[in-house]
Amino acid sequence: EQAEQEGVRLVKTICTGCAVGCGILGKVKDDVFIGIEPWVNHPINRGKLCCKGATVNHIVTSPKRLRYPMIKRNGKWERISWEEALDIIARKMIEIRQKYGPDAIFFAGSAKVSTEVAYLMRKFMAFWGSNNIDHQARICHSTTVAGLGNTWGYGAMTNNFNDMRNARCIIFFSNPAEAHPVSFYHIYEAKRRGAVLICCDPRFSRTAAVSDLHLQFRPGTDIALVWGICYEIIKNGWYDEEFIKNRTYGFEKAKEIIMQYPPELVEDITGVPAEKIRKAAYILATHRPATLQYAMGGTQHEYGAQNIRAYAILQLLLGNAGKPGGGVNAFRGHDNVQGATDMCVLSHSLPAYYGLSEKAWKHWCNVWKVDYEWIKSRFASEEMMHKKGFTMARFAVGAVAGTDAYPGTRNMKIDQPAPLKMIFIWGHSTPSLGDLKLVKKAFETVELLVFVDPFVESGAAMADRDDGIILLPAATEFEGEGFVTNSGRQIQWRNRVVEPLYESKEDMWILLSLVKALDRYEAGLYEKFTINFGNKSPEEIRPEDVWDNEVTVGCRSIGMIGQKSWRIKRQQEYDYTFDPETCRAVGGPCDGEYWGLPWPCWNEKHPGTPILYRNDIPVWEGGHDFRVKWGTTAPDGASLLSGVNGHDQIPGWATNLETDYSEWLDKNMVPSGRGRARFYAWNMKDPVPVHREPIFSPRLDLVDKYPVYDDSVYGEYHYRVQIRARSYQVAWKNARLKEVFPLIWTSGRQVEH
Ligand code: SF4
Repeated sequence: EQAEQEGVRLVKTICTGCAVGCGILGKVKDDVFIGIEPWVNHPINRGKLCCKGATVNHIVTSPKRLRYPMIKRNGKWERISWEEALDIIARKMIEIRQKYGPDAIFFAGSAKVSTEVAYLMRKFMAFWGSNNIDHQARICHSTTVAGLGNTWGYGAMTNNFNDMRNARCIIFFSNPAEAHPVSFYHIYEAKRRGAVLICCDPRFSRTAAVSDLHLQFRPGTDIALVWGICYEIIKNGWYDEEFIKNRTYGFEKAKEIIMQYPPELVEDITGVPAEKIRKAAYILATHRPATLQYAMGGTQHEYGAQNIRAYAILQLLLGNAGKPGGGVNAFRGHDNVQGATDMCVLSHSLPAYYGLSEKAWKHWCNVWKVDYEWIKSRFASEEMMHKKGFTMARFAVGAVAGTDAYPGTRNMKIDQPAPLKMIFIWGHSTPSLGDLKLVKKAFETVELLVFVDPFVESGAAMADRDDGIILLPAATEFEGEGFVTNSGRQIQWRNRVVEPLYESKEDMWILLSLVKALDRYEAGLYEKFTINFGNKSPEEIRPEDVWDNEVTVGCRSIGMIGQKSWRIKRQQEYDYTFDPETCRAVGGPCDGEYWGLPWPCWNEKHPGTPILYRNDIPVWEGGHDFRVKWGTTAPDGASLLSGVNGHDQIPGWATNLETDYSEWLDKNMVPSGRGRARFYAWNMKDPVPVHREPIFSPRLDLVDKYPVYDDSVYGEYHYRVQIRARSYQVAWKNARLKEVFPLIWTSGRQVEH
């Protein structure tokens, strides 16, 4: 009311400051974004904001905004029109393509764009004919994917922010008090309810300051610390025997390794007094469920994936998986890094983790309504179509290798035929790229450098060159709209607060206009690209067109969430909460406070999955699962072992289908009742995992074969089965770390084999 009286419009939207996904009210007066008000009934933050969120409107009103497209010519920056800028870029792209092939371009996408734009970025590079696309997720949480993905199936947070208040103990391998401040609201609530906080951090951080126990270990000794805690838990018989028996494999093997790490030895390795290690183990044993929380402190190591795996093993040991207040909660960084990852702005996969296999390409060609042969013809070769492109970590090498630009890399081997001649940096901060000396050289070596950003990206200033740089002013997140996925897998709709300022344009418009500009030289490209959107102009295509027409069709469990994007919008607009009964049915995390549509979401009515890998769903009783003839052997000698069933359990991990097991499954699987099954598979001839790549990672979708309908709260059920090989993609760094690998732990049910 007061706002109204003051002529202020309040717009519900989502903070861009980090991956917590707090709701904010943008205050708009006379079309100016003048400030932020708390959104008091938003379930994540309930009106709380950190200093970043409370001032986040400044990204719109900052005087440092890039106002119009600019080009550097003869050492001087000049203002140019959008049309000219896009035409120069398109012409250069075509020239490079003709001279060097499609792989001479690298496209750094972004975790700051909406999920729809992220999806279109991946589609764009597919249509261009290269897998040279990547984004921030490669730098931050790729080890989470390897560590958690190999344990459970999803490389994502198992529970959600709200659920942390249900924990009786929280063990941190991070510093959320500073990095994800509002998450601490829920952590404080847990503490108020009696939870004990254990902070594992080499630094005395703000999180350590409010924790009950601080384990200040030497950097890089996470695994030893975890093993020391596990040692005590096993020695004293504090592990969850029932859970281990029913839901895991390989305990004996794990025990063998863990028991080599008594606290005294761990003290030598980590610097943490043995007494404190014992105390941590005791607290964890006596305060269940406990949740484990980590972020970049755990991931950004050469052996980050092993760190994450060790964290997961600790939680499996305690039986803290698949339940409210438990889990392994990876806090991600950017506001939409989860959405951009799901859309696979990544060099090794097509959207929704399909990988780059022929079947994956065929699937997406089908969604995109283009001929597979046409897409193939866009690539330098069929081999390149299936080959991983440059990553964020390697693209700079791709630009300078083989040149005189950087002596150290002159003989560096690159795995792409064409050295890079053009680089797009779209919503990505150059200083985050690591080896800046090399990146600078790369920026100075390529023929054209394009930055798309609301600000003048520091890389543009860093590159010491007189021409060949174009800056395109992107609108900020608050000047556009679309879906974003927070770290808790919860998809939210971000409303536009104000119209784009100056000459800035929304990312979607920029991308579509670039395709349109290319269309002048490659007739028919725009029509092909937008066929599902009715060939509308860049101005007319809205996020819903992309989501409802393609993402939903192509991304299965992720897409189902938006299969009528109005569903999320409506929910956000009017009512965030489900009734407690529904809440309980999906895991009951928060006394009826559960909100949103966290993926996976299996159909239009499914309320989402706030807690993954639930272990309260009966496996064999109640007719919830597929029945598998245990221990049977697949045609190539691989043994398929079923994991837990339950409607929440299937990994959304739709990767390559190298081997078609449908026939075999038809014979060996009997659907019984409702639910979905989850499978892990590995080659039993070679039980010690030495495979860096999946042996096979098939996606089998049996929706058509076993449709089952159910009128429960979940609505219609789809049976789908995915089989995924356990992949061990992590580098083997030293003997001690190698020991992490032989553990074969999953949340799968133990079976005879
Ligand atoms: Fe924004 Fe993150 Fe702060 Fe929430 S915690 S207000 S999402 S920066």
